[in-house]
Amino acid sequence: MEKTSKTKKSKKKFYITTAIDYVNARPHIGHAYEKTLADAIARWHRLLGEEVWYLTGTDENAQKNAQVAKEKGIPIKKFIDANTAVFIELCKKLSISNDDFIRTTETRHIKVAQEIFKKVYDTGEIYKGKYEGLYCTGCEAYYTEKDLVNGKCPEHNRTPEIMSEETYFFKLSKYKEKLIKFISGYIIPESKKNEILSRLREEGLKDLCVARKNLDWGIDSPIDKKFKIYVWFDALINYYSGASGNWPADLHVVGKGINWFHSVIWPAMLMSAGIDLPKKLLVHGYLNLEGQKISKSLGNVIDPITLIDKYSSDSVRYSLLRCSVFEDSDYSENILIQRHNSELADNLGNLVSRVSALAEKYGIEKTDNKLLKKLKLKEIEKYMQNYELDRALNEIFAFIDVCNEYVQSNKPWETHDKKILYELVDSIKSIAILLSPFIPETSEKIAKLLGFDIKFENIEKQLSYRKIKKAEILFKKIDVEEKKEEKINKSEKIEGIIKMADLIKYDDFKKVELRVGTIKKAEDIEGADKLLKLEVDLGKETGKRTICAGIKKYYKKEDIIGKQIVVVVNLEPRKMRGLESQGMLLAAVSSDESSVILLSPDKKAESGWKVQ
Ligand SMILES: [Zn+2]
Repeated sequence: MEKTSKTKKSKKKFYITTAIDYVNARPHIGHAYEKTLADAIARWHRLLGEEVWYLTGTDENAQKNAQVAKEKGIPIKKFIDANTAVFIELCKKLSISNDDFIRTTETRHIKVAQEIFKKVYDTGEIYKGKYEGLYCTGCEAYYTEKDLVNGKCPEHNRTPEIMSEETYFFKLSKYKEKLIKFISGYIIPESKKNEILSRLREEGLKDLCVARKNLDWGIDSPIDKKFKIYVWFDALINYYSGASGNWPADLHVVGKGINWFHSVIWPAMLMSAGIDLPKKLLVHGYLNLEGQKISKSLGNVIDPITLIDKYSSDSVRYSLLRCSVFEDSDYSENILIQRHNSELADNLGNLVSRVSALAEKYGIEKTDNKLLKKLKLKEIEKYMQNYELDRALNEIFAFIDVCNEYVQSNKPWETHDKKILYELVDSIKSIAILLSPFIPETSEKIAKLLGFDIKFENIEKQLSYRKIKKAEILFKKIDVEEKKEEKINKSEKIEGIIKMADLIKYDDFKKVELRVGTIKKAEDIEGADKLLKLEVDLGKETGKRTICAGIKKYYKKEDIIGKQIVVVVNLEPRKMRGLESQGMLLAAVSSDESSVILLSPDKKAESGWKVQ
């Protein structure tokens, strides 16, 4: 494409990237967020008429991949291909408009990574030495004591190992002053820039290990075959090897956890190799699940593909893009449903369906659109330029509110005023164009319905007259109760989706004291046809307890004497048929309650043993 630059000279280029993802596990909602965020920015720049190149991809040379594949007993290439396919599927399902998808095991990348390594080596800035440090196998990175939280890796919450190895170093330390100068205009937002600047000033820079020995996975170092290129050095190069003539990048989009790599290591590598530097780095916040970091070890991972299948690409995109770009945000399935119902269905969907129905019935007549003057286009443009996408959305939805009020106050269903209806239809056109980076499928539907092209200049260009047809329902409201039931019924099938609201804290669970008991006596209770009075031995500590249990229909008294069961010991006593029941026993119950089976230890346990 670069060869035709003469004819395309007037078009501004915009090259945007996301971080490339580790493929040792399925994508989580954080991956979906970053890709969607970059996608909305890419689509915005296309809307402005720029020549956009949007690159995303996968980091496949990580030692971790080899490790996990080995654990699972799968050949590594097969393991990586299968996992990468899921990331590609995620891009498709989320309507991500990436122009290329780079995999760091591709020849085109390996070649470039080796070339750059060699180039830096030839300048004398890669040299052999010995390294000792604290190494996190999860991050595949060395940490200084200062980076650790309570002695543990902040990303993985595990203690790093002390490692010592023969290695090649890159003279990163040489670049401190140059980097300080460069970073001042590079990192967005300010707070993330200051973090890096103060760290650079306070700690300075040590030389960086860029090759590792004795690995069986990764890219061979071009200068010493016993060594592989350190995975971070190789991975960062993807932005250059996948640029297709568009280098330098105009914007790298990354999470705050890898700010240092992109602010310090990457520019220094490029400086050393004599390659142009990227223009901007956008460091976005993380998504939290009701206050907790989302991570596999916490078991609260949300599978974005399941979410898209359950709702829609646009609903997932919208709910993600409403999150703050620069701060950490709360996210959950409930939040998605809320935003879908109140903003997409009630505000936008309702406006489009009401106005299109009235326009079909009464027609429209072209007039000066005074309503559109209430759209704060300049502010929206400014927010988009500053990558404050959530704020741009606020403004667009504020205008949707204005339009809904306009319908309400002008009552076109009574007045049949064709001019009012024109203003509304024409305003919906502008809304749809502005929303196209966020919810592209919906915008397309509206464009087709009203007959306009999604182009920036059409925002203020008046819609020409045409016959309007009533819109199909754009967003069906999600019945929260129905969804909850679906979730309960399918809870085993819906892998990966866990709603925190349905969970209890570990500490809460710990409050429940469960013990093994042995049934010593079982008696009828006068007048009760369901209950049996049991005497249960719960060991020395707890002693004997009387428990009333509704198992008479399912068990014969004589059959359960001597049976071992599981008892909730610290339950408040309850009065039942005049008797005090001092605990509760656990049983498996079929959904229609036709079958009740007492839970027993698999082998003989002693009375009083704890169940945990
Ligand atoms: Zn780590």
